[in-house]
Amino acid sequence: MSKENKEQSDSVDPINVISFEVTFDNPIKDVHTARAPLSSCGWIDTTEGVVLIDTLLAKRWAKQVKERIKDKIKYLIYTHGHMDHMLAAPVFMEDNPEVIASKYLPDRLDKYQMLAPYKARKDAQQFGFPEIIPKLDLIYPTKTFLGDMTFSLGDKTFELHTARAETDDAVWIYVPELDAAFIGDLMIGSFPNIGNPWKPTRFALDWAKELERVRELNPKYIFYSGGGTFIEGENAIRGINDHIEVIRSLHDQVVDHINKGTHITEMIHEVKIPEHLKKSPFLQASYSRPEFFAFNCYRWYHGYFDGNITHLLPRPEKEVMGELYNLIGDPEKIIKRAKELLEQDQAQLALEVLDVLIQADPENIEAKKMRIKLLEKIGKDDYCLMSRNAWVYFINKDKDFIKSKEK
Ligand SMILES: [Zn+2]
Repeated sequence: MSKENKEQSDSVDPINVISFEVTFDNPIKDVHTARAPLSSCGWIDTTEGVVLIDTLLAKRWAKQVKERIKDKIKYLIYTHGHMDHMLAAPVFMEDNPEVIASKYLPDRLDKYQMLAPYKARKDAQQFGFPEIIPKLDLIYPTKTFLGDMTFSLGDKTFELHTARAETDDAVWIYVPELDAAFIGDLMIGSFPNIGNPWKPTRFALDWAKELERVRELNPKYIFYSGGGTFIEGENAIRGINDHIEVIRSLHDQVVDHINKGTHITEMIHEVKIPEHLKKSPFLQASYSRPEFFAFNCYRWYHGYFDGNITHLLPRPEKEVMGELYNLIGDPEKIIKRAKELLEQDQAQLALEVLDVLIQADPENIEAKKMRIKLLEKIGKDDYCLMSRNAWVYFINKDKDFIKSKEK
């Protein structure tokens, strides 16, 4: 991150780089949905006002939602504190709604402020956002709870439940008069985001158990991803079933490997989605991936120590790599081996061999050029948004470095 980028900035909205239209739907009576890139929300009309679930990510999108809401917003419910669910909340404050969230959500918002520089860097790597620190205009909840909570508004009842799943501050809602469940990011339309490489551990087993609670209600309609995406009937139950099964299967595989003592770098290649679920339309690895799940689930149950006594109190990585580099004694040898491995379709292994040189001599231009080739090869067939964006981020960093040296 450059020095000027470290300044707080409210003039740059990272989301402004994404120009898409918001799409609206009214899939069942009294329920409206809005979908925008990386975010969605929904609202429910009652005879005494509106209950809004989540807010979208960018205010300019949320303003379009606000224009379509005909009645007063009495309640805003956050399904959790991820930015794509609550960042545009200021747009909806005119009617002074009660803002309801899990008891743990305010801690999350505090954390975002505390770790703002890290968050900017990780958002650049994860989403490809410009690496800036936006000034956060956050609306904290006016009412928090833990467990179950019910309120009525006009002709409808809202049964709220807290959960530990994608986050520790998840809330899902069941409205019996509509036979509809609004489950936030308990489902996102692809393989569940249980492992995010930049984030703390997530709650695999609790996630499956919470979806089992949703299933017990046998809801006719399920709104997910904040509320903007909708499935019904058998399809809804299939979506939930596939999620429960894949989470429980991968979770149990990880537990088994931990007990057997499989090293984490082997485990991530061993843990697999069951064959019959690989084609499920609900589980495509377009956002997260099973390797991230395995890492995450391992870290939930397991400390940092990987069982190799060398790694209990290690020296800094660059110092160790420097020793190996001095033993090899020739940068050409390392680059040559990386090339051979690339030709043998072993780009990841090549990347790790090359890392000896990159760590020992971070200014080595030839090493950076080689790394770009390797990352391009790895990224070419990667359809997982998070890992693909990460490869691209580091390709661009290396290209910028080379350009700065060639001046
Ligand atoms: Zn989320």
